[in-house]
Amino acid sequence: MKNEMPKLPYPQNGLEPVISAETIEFHYGKHLQTYVTNLANLTQGTEFEQKEVEEIVSTAPDGGIFNNAGQVLNHTLYFLQFTAPGVGHTPEGKLAELIQRDFGSLEELKKQMEEAAITLFGSGWAWLSLDKEGKLQITKETNANNPLRQGNKPLLCIDVWEHAYYIDYRNRRADHVKKLWEIIDWQVIANRL
Ligand code: MN
Repeated sequence: MKNEMPKLPYPQNGLEPVISAETIEFHYGKHLQTYVTNLANLTQGTEFEQKEVEEIVSTAPDGGIFNNAGQVLNHTLYFLQFTAPGVGHTPEGKLAELIQRDFGSLEELKKQMEEAAITLFGSGWAWLSLDKEGKLQITKETNANNPLRQGNKPLLCIDVWEHAYYIDYRNRRADHVKKLWEIIDWQVIANRL
């Protein structure tokens, strides 16, 4: 993907009451915009200037360029995985088969993902990804990290930086995390396989 703001497939209030319009206004409109702007400024005149965001995340050394590229990729995958509450269907086809094989059930996947998101210390992300052997895995990634950095394919993420939930849930990270399942669009996740 190019370093640019993704177009949201829902209106600013379209994820309420799980995520408020005000949170979208700040999280998407200000935080993500800042990462996009910073990445453009930091890469100007460098070997990374014309590169896709995924390639920067895979190859940039630790530091500002990686941090901002990671956050552009993470937030793009994050905001595009949502849809209005109750219309996101359930996993089907190949994705449903992998969930059954690697977790036993969707409920178990959700439980493990919630556990990762709730217990992650500090700022970061819980990720569902496909590893190099084709197995689903859940990892905790600190700060701007993304499974792509280890050569794994990112599928679904939960942002547990406080800016993701503090307007709507204050300090109640666990409440926020559990509500997110209502707005996950499993068709989008399946398309990332
Ligand atoms: Mn965020």
